[in-house]
Formats: sequence, structure tokens, C-alpha cells
Amino acid sequence: MALALTLREYEFSVLLLEARELPEKVDDPRPLALSYGSRLILQRLDIWKNLTQPAPITTIHISNRGHFGHAVLTPDDAGVPALGYVVNYHDLYHSMGRAIRGSNAVYQTNALVTAIRTDLSLAQVAYQQGSTTRQVRARLLVLADGGKLAEQIDGVRYHTYDYQQTAIVANVKVESPRPGTAFERFTLNGPLALLPSGEGYALVWTMPAAAAEKILKLDDRSFLLHLHEQFGDRMGEFTHVGPRSSFPLILKHASTITGHRAVLIGNAAQALHPVAGQGFNLGLRDAWELASEISRIPSGTPGEPGSTRMLAAYSRRRQSDKRISRLFTDSLVKLFTADLPLVQTCSGMGLAALDNLPPARRLIAHQMIFGTKGWFIG
Ligand SMILES: Cc1cc2nc3c(=O)[nH]c(=O)nc-3n(C[C@H](O)[C@H](O)[C@H](O)COP(=O)(O)OP(=O)(O)OC[C@H]3O[C@@H](n4cnc5c(N)ncnc54)[C@H](O)[C@@H]3O)c2cc1C
Repeated sequence: MALALTLREYEFSVLLLEARELPEKVDDPRPLALSYGSRLILQRLDIWKNLTQPAPITTIHISNRGHFGHAVLTPDDAGVPALGYVVNYHDLYHSMGRAIRGSNAVYQTNALVTAIRTDLSLAQVAYQQGSTTRQVRARLLVLADGGKLAEQIDGVRYHTYDYQQTAIVANVKVESPRPGTAFERFTLNGPLALLPSGEGYALVWTMPAAAAEKILKLDDRSFLLHLHEQFGDRMGEFTHVGPRSSFPLILKHASTITGHRAVLIGNAAQALHPVAGQGFNLGLRDAWELASEISRIPSGTPGEPGSTRMLAAYSRRRQSDKRISRLFTDSLVKLFTADLPLVQTCSGMGLAALDNLPPARRLIAHQMIFGTKGWFIG
């Protein structure tokens, strides 16, 4: 959707196929932490102003359960008004759906892509809409399907690593909330994040799959007590938990993000661990940078967009951001869940050092907000 919206300024004909119903009919209460960099993109797409009350993150508090050392990031570290914002997934999805319908892109919902084939000159797509099977051809196929169809493209395979962890997601309330503060608490079981959302917090709590199965079955009171034990007393008692859902966690990235006349973006290109809330932000940057590469094509150039040259340029442009974001999230998880005293002591020292070194805080904040482009912002 973000790519289609960015391309509305240019004279390309865009067809967007979506397996789900119209966004208004999709209710997904998941909270999303968006970086300040994503806000800038959504502002350029004219989407930001339509979101209902994004909750600003003005402090990120990072700690390691049972160990000394913590770090605090603030907007001053990055020279931005807020480190990020928490929005509702469905709010964002509805706003984008409305904008797409007001654009020149053709938007087909209930359209399930079943097969794709690409060669040097064209991409061909078969999709099912109701009882009708349709075919379409395009000069460029952009796969943003979360990664189900990509292996139908020659040369694309996924590297996967199963964290054997599950993320439990729920809205919770606490006795003494700290408005604007997001918490990232590492525990030996996995990271636990609390993101400010409405009057409470959106919880993303990761742990080994077997432990999650047990915790999901607990009654609300036992769930909250267990959460309090892991998080500590920074905000007093946990007083309320809403419906809980869970997601298995797998790191996945494509061996190549391009094929003949095809490119993968978002989770189709890489699915990351949710620690530090990077996945959606990275996918949005994919869409933005791809639109920018497409927009460089001089009008009337035959065979573009989707030429080998254009796709190679996009791939080069995205390489470091993708690799560093993957390494950043994967290393955080592995480092802080390693049950080795020396590693835990070093990670505690790392947090303490981060807290005392403004240049290190700036680097980390810029990476989280802008990806690798942020490294070059003074
Ligand atoms: C617990 C958890 C918490 C997270 N929190 C954050 C966070 O705070 N911040 C953040 O940045 N990221 C977060 N992420 C990551 C983020 O959710 C994903 O990176 C992001 O949703 C991926 O978006 P996508 O559009 O690439 O893929 P998807 O969200 O998977 O969307 C794919 C789309 O393609 C459609 N589709 C699929 N197959 C077909 C088909 N055959 N034909 C037609 N359409 C099809 C689907 O209907 C869907 O609309 C989190 C992830 C998890 C698991």
C-alpha cells in the first residue's frame, strides 16, 4: 500500500492485489511501534494526519533482569521530537485503504494470488477472486505478501532460524504508568517490551514456546503476577490484562530480494524478531526506497521498471540497511538470552556504557529510527 501510494505521483499503472477483505472489515488490534523515520514517510504519503492519536515514545528504558546496568534513550539523543509512536495496526491499515481508493492505483480485495511466473521480459500472476480465476501481466511484480509466494521465483530461497520462542501480545494496565516511556526488558527467557498505548501499555512478551503455552493458559491474576515478577516494580502492580494472542518467532530472510521482473519487500524479504520493533519500519523503508528507485526512471524508457539494471540498483541500495537491521535484532536476542555469566556481565557493562556514552546512544537511536541511513546524520 505504501509503495502504491508513493507511486501515485508518477505515470505508472499500478494494480494492488490483496487476499483480505476491504480494510474496514479487518479488525487487527495489534499495536505497532513506528519510528520517527516512519512518521516522516507516512507524512509524505499524507497518512499520518489521519491516524487517531499516535502515542509518542519520549523515553526508552532498557534493562536486563537480574543484572546491573540499564540505559535510557531520549529524543535528545537523536535530535528528534519523539523516538517513535505507538499506533494501532488497524487504524493505519484503514487509513491507507482509504487513501489507496482515492488514488489512481487499481485496488482489488479478496484477490488471492495463487501462482506467479517471471522471465526477462514480463511477470505473470494468476489470482482467484470469488469463483473467478484471473491472469495479469506486469513489467514489475512487487511481492509484499509476507513471504508465502516468493519461492515460486527462480533463484529465491529462504534462510530461516527458528528462535523456538513465542511472543505473547496483550494490552495491560499498571498501577503507576509512566506516560511516554517504552520499556525493553531483557530476561533469560527472552525480551519483554511494554509500549505506551492509551491509558496502559501494549505488551510484547517473548519466551520459549513451551513456557508461552503455559502462560497463555493462566487466569488473568496469575498472568499479571507472573508478568510483574519478570518486569519488576518500576510501575507498581499490573492491574489489568486484555485478550492475549501469540506469534511464533522465526528469523527469515530471502537469499536474494530480486528475480527477473520481480522484487520482494517487507516481510517477504525478511521477517525479524520483534525485539526493538523493527520489522514494519524496515518494510516501510523498503517500499519508500523502491518507489524512489522506480521514480528515477526517465519516462518512456523501454522495459523499465523492472529491468535487471533497476532491480540491481535497488538491491544494492537496500543491502546494508537490511543486513544491519537483521544483525542488530538477532544479536540483541542471542546476547541477552545467553545463559553464560561472562556474557551476562558483559551485556550489563554494555548497557551501563551505553547509558554513559552519548555518541553510542546517538548511534543506536539513529539506527532504530532511520536504519543505516541514520549513521550519517550528525
Ligand atoms: C509480536 C510481533 C510484534 C511486532 N511489533 C512490531 C512493531 O512494534 N514495530 C514494527 O516495526 N514491527 C513489528 N513487528 C513486525 C511487523 O508486524 C511485520 O514486519 C509487518 O507486519 C510485515 O508487514 P508486511 O506488509 O511485509 O507483511 P504482512 O503483514 O504479512 O502482510 C502481507 C499482506 O499480503 C497479503 N497476502 C498474503 N498472501 C497473499 C496472496 N497469496 N495473495 C494476495 N495477498 C496476499 C496479506 O493478506 C497481507 O495483507 C511485530 C511482529 C510481531 C510478530
